[in-house]
Formats: sequence, C-alpha cells, structure tokens
Amino acid sequence: PVEPGHNFLRSLIRDDLESGRLQGEVVTRFPPEPNGYLHLGHAKSICLNFGLAEYFDGRCHLRFDDTNPDKESQEYIDAIQEDIRWLGFEWSGNVRYASDYFETLYEYAQHLVGKGLAYVCDLSAEQAREYRGTLTEPGRNSPYRERSADENLDLLARMRAGDFDEGQCVLRAKIDMASPNINLRDPILYRIRKAHHHQTGDAWCIYPTYDFTHGQSDALEGITHSICTLEFEDHRPLYDWLIEHLPVPSTPRQYEFARGNINYTVTSKRKLKQLVDEGHVDGWDDPRMPTISGLRRRGYTPLSIRKFWETVGVARADSTVDVAQLEYTIRDDLNENAPRAMCVIDPLKLVITNFPQDKVEWLPAAAHPSREDLGQRQLPLTREVYIEREDFRLEANKKYKRLVLGKSVRLRNAYVLTAEDVVTDADGHITEVHCRYDADTLGANPADGSKPKGVIHWVSASHGKRATVRLYDRLFNHETPDRGNEDFVAHLNPDSLVVRNECWIEPELAQAQAGSSFQFERLGYFVADSKEHSSDAPVFNRTVGLRDSWAK
Ligand code: ATP
Ligand code: MG
Ligand code: MG
Repeated sequence: PVEPGHNFLRSLIRDDLESGRLQGEVVTRFPPEPNGYLHLGHAKSICLNFGLAEYFDGRCHLRFDDTNPDKESQEYIDAIQEDIRWLGFEWSGNVRYASDYFETLYEYAQHLVGKGLAYVCDLSAEQAREYRGTLTEPGRNSPYRERSADENLDLLARMRAGDFDEGQCVLRAKIDMASPNINLRDPILYRIRKAHHHQTGDAWCIYPTYDFTHGQSDALEGITHSICTLEFEDHRPLYDWLIEHLPVPSTPRQYEFARGNINYTVTSKRKLKQLVDEGHVDGWDDPRMPTISGLRRRGYTPLSIRKFWETVGVARADSTVDVAQLEYTIRDDLNENAPRAMCVIDPLKLVITNFPQDKVEWLPAAAHPSREDLGQRQLPLTREVYIEREDFRLEANKKYKRLVLGKSVRLRNAYVLTAEDVVTDADGHITEVHCRYDADTLGANPADGSKPKGVIHWVSASHGKRATVRLYDRLFNHETPDRGNEDFVAHLNPDSLVVRNECWIEPELAQAQAGSSFQFERLGYFVADSKEHSSDAPVFNRTVGLRDSWAK
C-alpha cells in the first residue's frame, strides 16, 4: 500500500464527480510516443494516469501516439508495454494507436476545410517561419489562406494521393495569425511524409500533427481527463478550438501538471537515445540508465518507483527532486525485504591455523534480522576464508573496528579470531593473514571477558563461489547535467561502473534467481543480473549502497 501524497488532480476530479460535472466513469490515458524506452519521468505520468483511474474506479487507456513514423518502432512498442505491466498497471481494453484514427482524422480535416477553417498552404518551412511572427510581433497571413473550400478539398485529396513531394505543402488550421498565442497562428494539421509506418504500412503519405491528433483521439476514446505536462499549457486553446469545431463524440478536457525532474540525471528520450547510440552505456536497459528497464536491471522494485512518485506528489509548479530520495525509497524497500548474504569483493585470504584442514562446519544464519519468514541459510566455515582487504591492517588506532595484527575480531555469524601473523610476497604485499579462532565464541563473548571490537564479513575460500560484481554509481557527476547549453555528455561520471571479477559469495547465492535482490552485509544492496547471471557464472549488480555516500 502506497500512502497517498499531495495530488491536485485527484482533488479536481473529486470535485468534478461531486458537483455532477462529470457523469459516469473517469477515463484517463497514457499516450507514449514509441520512439524510445520509458524513463522515470514517464513513470510519473503512468502512476498518475493509471493511479487516478484506479483510485476513482475508472479506466486508463494505453494509446501509442504514433504520428512520426521515422522515429518509431515495434521494439519500442513492446518495451513500453512490458515496462507498464512491470510497474503493476494494466490498461483497459486493447492497446490503442493514434494511427487507428487516421481515417477519422482525415474526415475531420475535410470537415474543417469544408467549413473554411483549414487550408492547404504552399509556403516553404522557412517562409512559414517568417510569416509566423514572434512573441512580440504578430504573424502575417499566408498568401494561400484565401483558397476556396473546393480548391482546398481537392488539394488535400491530392496530398493524400501522393501527388506532392515532402515539404511542398501542408494543411493548416485557419485561426488567427495575430494571436498572442503562437499555437493559434494557423497551426499545421497535416504534413507530407513518404515513410513506412509500423502500424499502417504504406497506406498514408500524410501524417497528422500531435495537435491535430491528440485531442481528437481523446474525444474518440471518451477520455474525460487528458493529463499532460506543463509545456502543453499553451496548446490547450488549440486543443479546445479543435474539439469545439469538429463533430467529435465527446468533450475531453486537458489538464497540465509539472513534469518530474530529477537531479544527477537526464529524462529525455532523445538524450537517452544519444547515450545508447554513442555507446556511453550498454543499451537502454543498462543499469545506470534512468529508464524503467534500466532501473529494473539495477534492482529497483516497482513498488519503490510508485512510492517515490507518490511521495513527491503532483503539482503545477516545476521542481526538481533529489535523486537521493529515490535511492532512499529503494533502500527502505530492500532493507525490509531483501535477504542478507555475504560477498567479498576485494579478497584477502585468511588462514585459521587451528581449524582442521578438511573440516567444514555449517553455521546457520538468519536470512533477515526481523523477517523470520525468509528462513535461514547455511554458511560453510573452513580453514581458509576470504575477507575484504580493507578489513585488515597491520596496525591501526581505536577507530578502526576491524582486524588488526595481534588483535581480535568476530567473523559475522561465526567465531572470534585473533590475527597472529602475515605472509607477504616479494613486493611486500600481504597475501595471507594467519589467525587462531576461539571455538567457544559462537554466539558468545570470549571467556577472558574481552569483547572483540568489530564484526567483519567473510566467505569460505574452498566452498564459496567466484562471482562478478558490478559496482554501479550515478551516471552523471553533475547535479543538472543538461541545464542550459552545456553538453550533458561531458558530465558523465567516469566511475559510474567498476567491475570486480574476483569476488566471492556464499555458495547458496550462486543459485539465486536472476532478478532477485540481496543485502550483501556491510556492502549494500545487490541484484542478480537479469541477463547475465547464472549459477556457473554469477553476476550481481549494485543497486544502492547502505547509506547515502553522496550526502553533502
Ligand atoms: P521525452 O521528452 O523524453 O521524449 P515525451 O514527453 O516526448 O518525453 P512521450 O512518449 O510523448 O514522451 O510521453 C508520454 C507521456 O509521458 C506524456 O503524457 C508526457 O507528458 C509524459 N511524460 C514524459 N516525460 C515526463 C516527465 N519527465 N514527467 C512527467 N511526465 C512525463
Ligand atoms: Mg510527446
Ligand atoms: Mg519527446
């Protein structure tokens, strides 16, 4: 269960229902363009649209906004559906496509032309820009604006028939070239694109614009609340103008909310695609990517993402959320739910000289400190174990609560031992630490009353399994990588991935299912990689550290 946070749209819809302005069901839609993978920002829109429908017992449609055939593909369509379902949402009815409505939209275009509210314009793109005017200067009427309805109907039919080249003409609404709102200065409704479309094939060589498609699709589907991000606020008068002047079957309303921005990341499909295309990351689902598929591979849970956006809330004022809040949410989730395990990522061999050579002592350990339902695991203790290299020092002051030569430490879930000697190689590097263990210290302090200062994790050298661990960190080392004109690629964190190939894990961990999460004690939260992990060659990805190492 996710605690409901502040959400002005929820209040607004409740008012619509209570006042009787809305009769019947609440119907929302999530309208991705299939030109990339979904990212965290989309997750906000998904949680909002599907969440509102769920909350009011209504429906949410999935509609692909597929009016730019060049940039779209089936791969993206499939990935988007998988990601929405993974987040735990299901759309009402079939998957819909704006392209399902191409024929109806064309009839709507003919309708506008017939009423003298649209015309075919032959201005080049450059001329049109000139005629459009600026924020401070009104635009000028196109010389083609007064074409008759009959001539326009004929030209539109010829546009559809493929008689003209790309860019030769467009269909424009006839509204007001002097409007202070540039979106109303005779906006383009159709342009010629001789491109193959993933849904409609070669049936069309003219494609409707976003503005001509979106509201009409909403109306055709009976959407009651068409929720979009604030940059479409200035498009709302056009949205309403089209709904008013077309014979549409319902009257949807557009509402805007602030897009989700997160620091230390970019949420723009175009920029994410650039990272993929230029090889800065290993695909859309690279665990460092802020895509839903990347977060999934990184070990984020659907609940953590939904909770994150719910906590952030929905407002009309733009703001940026600290990525630490997202990391906090997954840490909290995994602390509660992830079984504990031990993994040594920078191994140093420790020989327990008074432990018999061939003995294996299986020690039980709780899988979780408070979740008995997660059961127990069995840890093999043997004469040789690995500890982290940084957990041993020849000498250290009192603040160092690990193993020091001549001093004692407890092996986690096992015994207290004392370091007595080291073996070094020709360069003086320590290759082994020799210890003696106290067999009376399992779950008890040493008999002499001393209390070992620290507890360190370990893995049996003979019974542990070798593993690869990928230490992921933030992809960008800049708080606002794409602010202003700066090149966001320059802010990539060169240390966003460190691969450790000689890690050791407790044996049962090798059997972990791909995609399952663990807390590696003292190290952080890790997930068995969904693509490359196997029991023969285990691979774990670091989801997040135990605490916020970026905290200022
Ligand atoms: P991008 O800029 O990454 O290409 P987009 O808005 O063009 O994003 P769409 O596929 O059109 O991508 O988005 C589908 C829906 O998700 C839209 O309703 C859009 O407003 C919403 N959305 C996209 N990015 C965000 C964001 N950062 N926060 C909230 N909603 C978003
Ligand atoms: Mg869009
Ligand atoms: Mg876009």
